[in-house]
Amino acid sequence: MSTYEEIVDRERHYLLQTYSRYPLAIESGKGVYVKDVRGNKYLDLVGGIGVNALGYAHKRIVNVIKDQAGKVIHTSNLYYHDYQGLLARKLCEVSDMSRVFFCNSGTEAIEGALKLARAAGHASGGESKCRLVALEGSFHGRTFGALSLTANPKYRQDFAPLLEGVQFVKLNDVESLRAAVSDATCAIVLEPIQGEGGIHECTPEFLRAARELADRHKAVLVLDEIQCGLGRTGTMFAFQQYGVKPDVVTVAKPIAAGLPLGAFIAREELAGAITAGKHGTTFGGGPLVCRVALEYFAVLEEEGLLEQVNRVGAYLHQKLEELKSNFASVRQVRGRGMMQAIELDVPTRPFVDAAMAEGVLINSTAETVIRLLPPFLLEEKHVDKAAKVLRKLLKKRPA
Ligand code: PLP
Repeated sequence: MSTYEEIVDRERHYLLQTYSRYPLAIESGKGVYVKDVRGNKYLDLVGGIGVNALGYAHKRIVNVIKDQAGKVIHTSNLYYHDYQGLLARKLCEVSDMSRVFFCNSGTEAIEGALKLARAAGHASGGESKCRLVALEGSFHGRTFGALSLTANPKYRQDFAPLLEGVQFVKLNDVESLRAAVSDATCAIVLEPIQGEGGIHECTPEFLRAARELADRHKAVLVLDEIQCGLGRTGTMFAFQQYGVKPDVVTVAKPIAAGLPLGAFIAREELAGAITAGKHGTTFGGGPLVCRVALEYFAVLEEEGLLEQVNRVGAYLHQKLEELKSNFASVRQVRGRGMMQAIELDVPTRPFVDAAMAEGVLINSTAETVIRLLPPFLLEEKHVDKAAKVLRKLLKKRPA
């Protein structure tokens, strides 16, 4: 096993330097804790950016991976296997939608949804029905299509030209949304709860307006639930708490418990827009990832994890609100379930380093936001520990 210094040194020499990592090399994990290569233990409230909903080394996941790896990992999409259809059926059941396409990441799910929306737009309104409406503060991924819908210049700069015909609207500004959507719009794409943007929720009125405008102009409403979906906010999808149903929903992150899998799920009416040969992937929806994803859903149900997300998430929110009452530097507490944020009046990156020194992993996003995306296995005692550390840090105000 390499030392921390060897690991860092090797990466510095051989990796394209696209990540500014925290000074931590993880060796293993169990439940809601990870261990670094130096033997230190950390309570993990980041969960691999919302991927490790079942924590680390979950017995059922480990067993399924072992068993399936000994049978077949990959088949390609030239052939059938048992698990793709079973998982597609499960996704249709939990979303009350009809057709699934499997890919390998969140950004690929968005790309596929965009292609479906463009194809549907062309079919109903000709090639001019191609425009896209997305939100300021959004994050949909880093491939050219997904990046074109991601407003923050930090991600876009240096990569122009991106897709043409994308219009950004201020979050929850219904009038601007109305002005932006027209018969030339093929899709409105938004996160019901913005994740990378700092945990900002769409209001129910805004989501309802998006639904009405999509219907009126025959556009596709794509809800990106890659971060907020699959149980994180206490229901299988965040949109289920709003009573607004999308035409397409995208998922990824926790679905295969850390293995790369993404998907978009569409309504039946869109199924004809993409036919054989128009979209595809070598890896997407292989037997290993699909079987693990089926196990993910089984664990959520059989271990009562949605109930836990609601109960412990509410407790976490309450503890964060208590910090807000005690510290003027806390501007706002936002979030639902295991997707919570505290916004401070200063940049939060130094807090991440200081929390790590105290044995707790937290994440900084949107400059001044501490974002928490803990595993669904989090318990009240873990929340108490995290709140104690955050209280200490807010007193010290690390810079
Ligand atoms: N959409 C949302 C809402 C996300 O949070 C992310 C990643 O953070 C993506 C899309 C892109 O997913 P991936 O990093 O798996 O490509």
